[in-house]
Amino acid sequence: MKRLSMLFLLTAVAGLVVGCGSDLSFEPGSYTGGAPGIHGEDVVVSVTVDRSSIKEIEIVENHETPGVSDVAFERIPQAVIDGQTLNVDTVSGATYSSNAIIGAIEEALAAAGGDIAALRAGGDDENADAVTAATEVLNADVVIIGAGGAGLSAAVAANEAGASVIVLEKMPQVGGNTIISGSAFNAVDPGRQEPLGIEDSVDRHYEQTLAGGDYEGDPTLVRTLVENAYPTLEWLEAHGMEFDDHVFTVLGGLWPRAHHPVMPLGTGYIKTYMDYIEEHSDEITVLTETRAREIYLEGGRASVVNASGPDGTVVAQGHKAVIVATGGFGASIELRERYNTHWPSLAEIGTTNHPGATGDGLAMAEAVGADLVGLEYIQLLPMGDPVTGSLSGNIEQAVENRIFVNKDGNRFVDEGARRDVMTRALFDQEDSFMWIVLDSHNYPTMDTTNNFNETIQELVDQGRALMADSLEELAVQMDVDPDNLVAAVAAFNEAVETGGPDEFGRTLFQYRIDTPPYFAGGRKPTVHHTMGGIRINERAQVLDTDGTVIPGLYAAGETTGGIHGTNRLGGNALVDVNVFGRIAGTNAAAEQPTAE
Ligand code: ADP
Repeated sequence: MKRLSMLFLLTAVAGLVVGCGSDLSFEPGSYTGGAPGIHGEDVVVSVTVDRSSIKEIEIVENHETPGVSDVAFERIPQAVIDGQTLNVDTVSGATYSSNAIIGAIEEALAAAGGDIAALRAGGDDENADAVTAATEVLNADVVIIGAGGAGLSAAVAANEAGASVIVLEKMPQVGGNTIISGSAFNAVDPGRQEPLGIEDSVDRHYEQTLAGGDYEGDPTLVRTLVENAYPTLEWLEAHGMEFDDHVFTVLGGLWPRAHHPVMPLGTGYIKTYMDYIEEHSDEITVLTETRAREIYLEGGRASVVNASGPDGTVVAQGHKAVIVATGGFGASIELRERYNTHWPSLAEIGTTNHPGATGDGLAMAEAVGADLVGLEYIQLLPMGDPVTGSLSGNIEQAVENRIFVNKDGNRFVDEGARRDVMTRALFDQEDSFMWIVLDSHNYPTMDTTNNFNETIQELVDQGRALMADSLEELAVQMDVDPDNLVAAVAAFNEAVETGGPDEFGRTLFQYRIDTPPYFAGGRKPTVHHTMGGIRINERAQVLDTDGTVIPGLYAAGETTGGIHGTNRLGGNALVDVNVFGRIAGTNAAAEQPTAE
């Protein structure tokens, strides 16, 4: 039995008040009332009334069983206020608590001089019915919050390990940021790398990941990430996901070990998982438009999630575990501004994120004791659409084959550097604006698509890319100094021959920029990824501020922190999401179930 430190404060909105309010009369003020709940201890409420109506009901104290009974705490006071009556239905599954709340409110209203007989008789039945209809209680072994890459990989892994699963997703559709991500997946893969003459090792991936985050990442988590990268890629392939045969260096990835899915963006991951889930729909339920609001511990274990669904409250009971997979907070200007210490204000900066990336899991996990780490590390990309912040319209194909120039037509950074280094340099340019410049090596035909499945022809037609037969003509269209652009490309081409490092320290090269047509596309900084979040161990268990495991609570994906340190390498997000989602699901399924 445990005490909830939860307050529901409900306010009557004048226009919504219905029922028999006109006959009511009270002595205005706030009154306290109590009545025994399921464990014999009082539920205590404070009720505020004016001369003729019930205005506010606050739950001051309760010792009820969390989860199911909490729906009663939310619904019943609201129904009393909405109907201005005590004649409200109890919440099914929480009858004791419901009656205690009604009894406590009644005592307070009696103290306020209310006519209890009239209050018990009044009200409108439609409203009372809604109290029952609005609550759905669901049971499964594992409850997962969030249906992006981490949540869905966890769902599949948990089910493979024998667990039944409920996934709660607040948006009308699954996929989160994962489905709109660039989707590159870093893994050491001799089968694909050796034929291209690329040397690599898991140790190098480990060292680059740690160093790329300024050694702020947890070495154990980084080791778990890199060692499980290739096995998880094989697991995805075994479930039908296809990757291209070649590997490449993704922006800020520092090494050619990124795998490119055959399907555009992150759709391949989500389709792979949803195909599995559809085949196992008797064991895995995905509820969309269902926003998780609170996690409850029962006997010290995470076991119940309260959510708001399209038809009312959903109470999802996870008899083995709860997994938080709610993604990052890149779309929350409020949280960006709260945690950002490393960048200029991010209030006006666009984002590559979907609108649901608002960091909900952080507050939910923190409320049950989770430690949060590294929230100040927010990743920006220098590759945002100047209008929307999205990655769409980005003409880059491979790090090796394009340069960045500013509004003067001059290069300003190593275009193969870390993402934070490139973005910081971009903030120093006029209007924080740059052009990506490349040639037809990247677009041998006008039908060639970028990573967003947009053809270069479409982008040119829309005015989102510029095209010219000479660099001088391109410079005129870009409104930059042609001499500067020509000189920048000439210096770059020389470095391609020598292999660098060039004056900016760049070492990643492949083709010269010398074959028309030439293309340019404008870009600005955009918020992309939040490195910080819920602290976990290598089993994806959530840790409290003492480093102790919170029983039954797991987290995976962008909502977690401590893996990428100050800066995440390009191509490591999808590894993180799938590796730790899978680990969380497998371990959650292995927990001992609590008694129902
Ligand atoms: P990751 O890459 O870590 O899986 P994503 O952004 O792909 O992150 O997925 C996170 C998912 O969690 C998104 O689909 C998002 O809408 C969902 N989500 C965020 N907050 C909630 C919430 N409170 N309740 C349910 N789903 C949520």
